[in-house]
Amino acid sequence: MALVLQGGTVLTVDAEDRVLRGVDIRIEAGTIAAIGPGLASPGDETLDCRRGVVMPGLVNVHTHAATALFRGLAEDLPRDFWAGAYKVPGEERFGPKDYALSLRAACAEFLANGVTCIADRLAGMDRLAPVIEASGLRAVVGSTLTDRRAEDAWRETDALLDHWGTDPARSRVTAAIAPHALDSCSDDLLRACAARAQASDARVVLHVAQSAPEVAAVRARGHAGALACLRKAGLTGPRVVAAHCIYLDESEMEGWCADGTAIAHCPASNLKIEARTIPLHRYAGCVPVGLGTDWTASDNSMDMFWEARLAALVGKMNAGDPTALPVRTMLRMLTIEGARVLGLDHLVGSVEPGKRADLIVLDRDRLEMAPAHDLAANILYSASPRSVRDVLVDGVVLKRDHRLVRDDEAALVAAMDAAGWVR
Ligand SMILES: [Zn+2]
Repeated sequence: MALVLQGGTVLTVDAEDRVLRGVDIRIEAGTIAAIGPGLASPGDETLDCRRGVVMPGLVNVHTHAATALFRGLAEDLPRDFWAGAYKVPGEERFGPKDYALSLRAACAEFLANGVTCIADRLAGMDRLAPVIEASGLRAVVGSTLTDRRAEDAWRETDALLDHWGTDPARSRVTAAIAPHALDSCSDDLLRACAARAQASDARVVLHVAQSAPEVAAVRARGHAGALACLRKAGLTGPRVVAAHCIYLDESEMEGWCADGTAIAHCPASNLKIEARTIPLHRYAGCVPVGLGTDWTASDNSMDMFWEARLAALVGKMNAGDPTALPVRTMLRMLTIEGARVLGLDHLVGSVEPGKRADLIVLDRDRLEMAPAHDLAANILYSASPRSVRDVLVDGVVLKRDHRLVRDDEAALVAAMDAAGWVR
């Protein structure tokens, strides 16, 4: 049986950014089969979208969902507080059950917020990935590799590769290689990650130049900087996704564009714990750039609308130019460019026949979506999770009429309280 989204205004985010008005989207076996008028047949399930804006689901290219339980535990701290380990005050009191509940809650929150795809990483991801899969989200997952726990982490990475594989056309959840950062991983470990990624056709996701001490450690190993370290390890090009990149110098920024390494831009996290971020206008359009919410210790919010708005506004300030990073660029960064960063743009990220139906429907009866002079601008500068009426991943409805289908927000909060998280 097909599912038909009827009569919506569709922001396709295709190559021409076409907006289609009053059309149906016919979904068969999780794939967009057709877009046009009058596509419902007797017996089809239908979703009335006449008061909706249908667009691709939001893609979060850098997060650590299982750390949702840290929200509110690390506010207004100096930069050097995070040096070395990124340890959150009080984290030792949380056990495996807490992280599993935390991950379930984060997946629910992402879906409620219109996020349909995440790139997620943490130590022990082999045990966490089934929670993500059960939520219905699309995901690229990696188990964090460091020198300190390399043996366990390689075992977890092998388990992820074996179980989920790296072909997103075959599995909604796929595995990545996830070295932690340039200071917590030796050059040998970074080279081993590059080799494993090549052998398994996986993406490499890692943190790069997130802090001054990280870059100092890289220089102490004899590299000119973060970019030189990545090049030496064979970790450049579009199959590598580097989060943050906020301590690159002028020549590294130029070299970065020549290499084409993808960037996971996390402006809220950067601004909150380092009080700086990248000049986004230097990278947008020259390398694949997506947006990420990082973890709740450094970006309490899981709201990608807010992340995109912040990226646009701070990006304009850094460019010294209010015409920089226009609405079109930012909506693409939220969707198709995020998908491109993760190697999923042939499957998701736009509303086109043949793509998987990872879609969200925004509610045009919410005041923040009106008036409709410029719907795309409303989405970037005014919409929020409360605007998200319905969410579909692979054609499966996971939020319907403003309510989650598989989980219940109040029940999850009650479970956090019952687990004694707040003491
Ligand atoms: Zn991170």
